[in-house]
Amino acid sequence: MKQACKYHPAARGRWYCARDGIHFCDECVASDDPQGSSARCMLCNRALEAVPTVLAATPFYQILPHFLRYPAGPFFAALALVMALPLALTGFHWTGAVVFAVAGLVLAACGGTVLYQGLEGRLERPTHQEFLSGEGWAAGVQCWLAWAAMVLLAGLGFHYAGLPAALAVVVAFSLLLPTVFFSLARNPNPARALQRIHAPPLILGRDYLLMAAALAAAGVLVLSLAVIVRDLAPERLAAPLAALPVAWLWLFSMRLTGYLGCQYQDELEIETRERELARRRARNRRPETERRMAVLLREGRYDKVLTALEARLEKKPEDPALNEQYARLLEAMGRTGTLLEHAERYFAALFKAEQGHRVPELIRRYRELDPKYRPRAPELRWQCAQELATAGEHLEAVRILQGLHEQNPDWHGVGEAYVFMARLLAQKLDMEKKAEQFLRFVEKNYTRPKTRQLVNEARKELGL
Ligand SMILES: [Zn+2]
Ligand SMILES: [Zn+2]
Repeated sequence: MKQACKYHPAARGRWYCARDGIHFCDECVASDDPQGSSARCMLCNRALEAVPTVLAATPFYQILPHFLRYPAGPFFAALALVMALPLALTGFHWTGAVVFAVAGLVLAACGGTVLYQGLEGRLERPTHQEFLSGEGWAAGVQCWLAWAAMVLLAGLGFHYAGLPAALAVVVAFSLLLPTVFFSLARNPNPARALQRIHAPPLILGRDYLLMAAALAAAGVLVLSLAVIVRDLAPERLAAPLAALPVAWLWLFSMRLTGYLGCQYQDELEIETRERELARRRARNRRPETERRMAVLLREGRYDKVLTALEARLEKKPEDPALNEQYARLLEAMGRTGTLLEHAERYFAALFKAEQGHRVPELIRRYRELDPKYRPRAPELRWQCAQELATAGEHLEAVRILQGLHEQNPDWHGVGEAYVFMARLLAQKLDMEKKAEQFLRFVEKNYTRPKTRQLVNEARKELGL
């Protein structure tokens, strides 16, 4: 049964945390080395167990009936029969074996498709389209040649030296063939495959010996069947009939190779789609801090996320995205007090990043939580008022600035801000009287020449 990541149901769970009882994909794992053994749990920080590949968690000998039944599909059987028919002409002559080896090239390609299906962790038989895609043919044909050599030699051995010689050939080949198959599955270029021909037995160890034993047992069985058919069946039918179990043995071998190749795909370095996907994911992974936060959020550990965000904000106080994340989280957690306290730092970050246009929307959000909200720092109030006015929210701009001289009597910009407000009142809000009051207030209290000039300009323009 395929285990999915708890937080990414479409991704395979490649890691398991025994403490939290959760499966993770590569995206959800701490450590930047997803292939290595150093993966840690994002939640409890303990080392994770690697989950064996897809279906391959089950040892092959526990589902042996599947492998025995697999080659008995109608498509395979029909194909084997067609391939075997020319043998009716040759009979049990060595030329018959050669004919079978050549006519069986289609069966060989078919075995290649079976092999690749297995490597991708698929249990079902390939469809016609998958067979015709040509994937695996190169490896299949080469495996077939090595395998057909066994059939040919066993036949010759039987003919010249009797059954024991044929059995010896089958057993010897059963030990050698798996490593040839695995090497070709890894790389269908024969020269390259030969370079590492010694590796698979060392990597698979006991499983390699068990596989060789299974192949040998199946080979002995098939050989015995062929001998019986040869003695009992009518002459013309005997050779084609004996060829059927031989074809079965071929597909059985390919299915078994594919299954074990899938189980050991990482160790054997077989390029499967699964491995390529995992690599691509690893390359495109977001930084670990972000991934950790995503996992913590999905697990509902908001306090931990908040602490992590605060730590990141301390390092990058002017990052608008971080500030937004922090504000959203506080909003979701209902921490209005902390949220409003954080507001001024967020505004400052936005102005610094020249994203002042986002201020009006933010003020609206804060006002929903506290209808009287406005920044405390006079510079920020002034900047926010300007952004609000630019966004066409004139009344809000006036509300932000109201009472500025009371709360910040010493701030140097009060005069300019009030002249700005008077303009808004007169031009945008049809409140000339109020505008006049503000202008008079500025004239009375702020006597610097620059402020005076601003007032005079405003009076001329507004006709007050
Ligand atoms: Zn995941
Ligand atoms: Zn854990």
